Amino acid sequence: MSDPKGFQKYQRAVLSARSVAERLQDYKEIYQPTAPDMIKNQSARCMDCGVPFCHSGCPLGNLIPDFNDAVYREDWQEAFQILSETNNFPEFTGRICPAPCEASCVLGINNQPVTIENIEKQIIEHAFAQGWVMANNYRVESGKHIAVIGSGPAGLAAAAQLHKAGHRVTVYERNEKAGGLLRYGIPDFKLEKWVVDRRIKVMEESGITFVCNADVGHNMDIKEIEAKHDAIVLCGGSTIPRDLNIEGREAVGVHFAMDFLEKSNKYIDAGMETLPDIFVQGKNVIVIGGGDTGADCVGTSNRQGAASVTQIELLSKPGTSRTDKDPWPLWPMTLRTSSSHEEGCQREWSIQTKRFIKNETGQLTGLEIVEIAWAFDTEKERYDFTEVAGSQRIIPCEIVFIAAGFLHPQKEGIIDQLGIELDNRGNVATQNYQTNLPHVFAAGDMRRGQSLVVWAISEGREAARAIDKYLMGVSKLEGKVVSDLVM
Ligand SMILES: Cc1cc2nc3c(=O)[nH]c(=O)nc-3n(C[C@H](O)[C@H](O)[C@H](O)COP(=O)(O)OP(=O)(O)OC[C@H]3O[C@@H](n4cnc5c(N)ncnc54)[C@H](O)[C@@H]3O)c2cc1C
Repeated sequence: MSDPKGFQKYQRAVLSARSVAERLQDYKEIYQPTAPDMIKNQSARCMDCGVPFCHSGCPLGNLIPDFNDAVYREDWQEAFQILSETNNFPEFTGRICPAPCEASCVLGINNQPVTIENIEKQIIEHAFAQGWVMANNYRVESGKHIAVIGSGPAGLAAAAQLHKAGHRVTVYERNEKAGGLLRYGIPDFKLEKWVVDRRIKVMEESGITFVCNADVGHNMDIKEIEAKHDAIVLCGGSTIPRDLNIEGREAVGVHFAMDFLEKSNKYIDAGMETLPDIFVQGKNVIVIGGGDTGADCVGTSNRQGAASVTQIELLSKPGTSRTDKDPWPLWPMTLRTSSSHEEGCQREWSIQTKRFIKNETGQLTGLEIVEIAWAFDTEKERYDFTEVAGSQRIIPCEIVFIAAGFLHPQKEGIIDQLGIELDNRGNVATQNYQTNLPHVFAAGDMRRGQSLVVWAISEGREAARAIDKYLMGVSKLEGKVVSDLVM
């Protein structure tokens, strides 16, 4: 244990962010570098609990007290090795994970939890700076070839693990560059793209092949891929957005959030020379949906110079502390204010959208909304809402982003052509990551439904283990991966 009294001596200290005025001028990461002694003190707050709930809070089962102890002893190499045993990409989770580990930290019962996410980020950044994150070329080749379709965090994690196990891996990606939502969904102010490039370079140097602009099922034949590989893992994400089929949906200026975010990310990646065709400078923007995607639209709109940004949400405003429905160590359903909200945004809850209003040229001019009241319906045995009489109003706007979540993966293409069975939510149905075709596996949002980066990494790792077992009869990826397998 690092320091038995650390949690009494030190208060939780989080990364300081650049000022709002400064960060709105660029798309760079908002947080400033941390002083090393701050990290040591923060790791000292870990109590090395008898039952470390943070392990099970983390979908990867990260060995948090162990790496905290190594950081406290300033043995960064050991900390890196411990972290790498369970997490292929701490540089992503250390920046953008909502940190369920912190929500289940025992210190959080009556104090502020340990800053696990930031400690993780510092460990991996230190490891990269020291040159410890190296290509993994030392392995015995199995002679098996695996195709990974989709290069988001699930596909990348599956590829890294399968490569470790000795298989030859090719990742097919339909976009111009690899990374999935890490690159084209999540904005740079949360995750700069050099972080993604840096990891992909290590993977390529290890011998993993990336084939981009390969839209499998469209410009690349899935049957050809099937014939060339011993197994396939589908990691295509959950890409079909939930629409709002209300009057005026066709108005010019109503977009899906991902259309906006992808164009913005590509604009930044291309050096910001040619403005994308969705650009909100001087416009009044409404974001429908209160989740991560909606918050990313808020931050991006403010950086593009929107005249105003309003975010509306159907659900009621959450409280600021846990209730008896979400006690520790469960994920707290409390109000979340992201850095994007701090940058300027009108937030409204318990709002239902009624119709999009357009002018004679078809351009959006406003959104008609109504306030709603939520109550438990004893007959239906669930919460339901009623409209608040007289609360109907129009919010003037020229742009609306629909950020109402994602329904399921795209069926047309690979799923149809291979005859892959789906579950009752429309996601790929699997048993231990294996689909109805024994040589085809699935992981990430495509299997689980829209989720988190940390879950996608976890799913990619688990699917890799299932494939390894399917091909070899037994998997050396089983259990906690030992550090000599670190990539
Ligand atoms: C805007 C936004 C912000 C988010 N922010 C966060 C956050 O801050 N923290 C967090 O933890 N989670 C966040 N998430 C969720 C997280 O990004 C996803 O859960 C995660 O990326 C899912 O990983 P995946 O690998 O399953 O799929 P994806 O990341 O969606 O990757 C799927 C990849 O498959 C490719 N593909 C699909 N079909 C084909 C095909 N036929 N041929 C070839 N390639 C194909 C796609 O182009 C894509 O690159 C966010 C999601 C969105 C949309």
